[in-house]
Amino acid sequence: MILVFLGPPGAGKGTQAKRLAEEKGFVHISTGDILRDAVQRETDLGKKAKEYMDRGELVPDELIIALIEEVFPKHGKVIFDGFPRTVAQAEALDKMLENKGLKVDYVFLFDVSDNVVIERLSGRRIDPKTGTVYHVKYNPPPPGVKVIQREDDKPEVIKKRLEVYRKQTAPLIEYYEKKGILKKLDAVKPIEELYKEVLGVLENGN
Ligand code: ADP
Ligand code: AMP
Repeated sequence: MILVFLGPPGAGKGTQAKRLAEEKGFVHISTGDILRDAVQRETDLGKKAKEYMDRGELVPDELIIALIEEVFPKHGKVIFDGFPRTVAQAEALDKMLENKGLKVDYVFLFDVSDNVVIERLSGRRIDPKTGTVYHVKYNPPPPGVKVIQREDDKPEVIKKRLEVYRKQTAPLIEYYEKKGILKKLDAVKPIEELYKEVLGVLENGN
């Protein structure tokens, strides 16, 4: 089964994807996580991607598509989180899957307002040791865990990322709606409730 998690930055895609990976055996492919790791290790990809990421812009399609081709697992259930982010990426994914006799089964749209995005991103904190994602209010880190804030979760960059989402990524809603595979989630709901909704779709198709 192939899933795509679509929605603005900070909508809660990674939070749900990580849990599904842990509990249901999905391979979680987050292009954002892979790129941050590449930046930290100063690989070729990391060096090319860093400036775009710091500015809150998208990394060029050809780099992302090559990356997906490299990391696509040979077997298993997959969640693409934060990919595709442009129509060109979505078309490339469809082609790649078609060549393997596969297709995207469901696209979950994490639907939230800009205000919620801003509140979630500005309160997001990461444990750099484990990559666990917390929120100062909604999912606070346990006492003693030292957390950091992502550079691109600062207010100026958040604004840019929302603009980029609206212009370059939101057209994918129509792209997947036309294919009849879009499942809209009211992502303002609490983490636990959303998880149950996702499972409901996977288990019963609704
Ligand atoms: P994305 O992967 O879409 O960028 P994250 O999963 O990192 O988003 O979530 C962004 C922030 O919002 C994190 O701090 C996370 O703990 C918090 N969060 C995620 N889902 C919810 C939710 N349903 N309700 C409240 N806070 C949430
Ligand atoms: P994320 O962790 O999903 O919020 O992504 C962080 C940053 O990585 C984005 O602001 C982009 O600069 C870059 N990025 C992640 N995924 C993609 C993608 N599919 N296409 C282009 N850029 C991406």
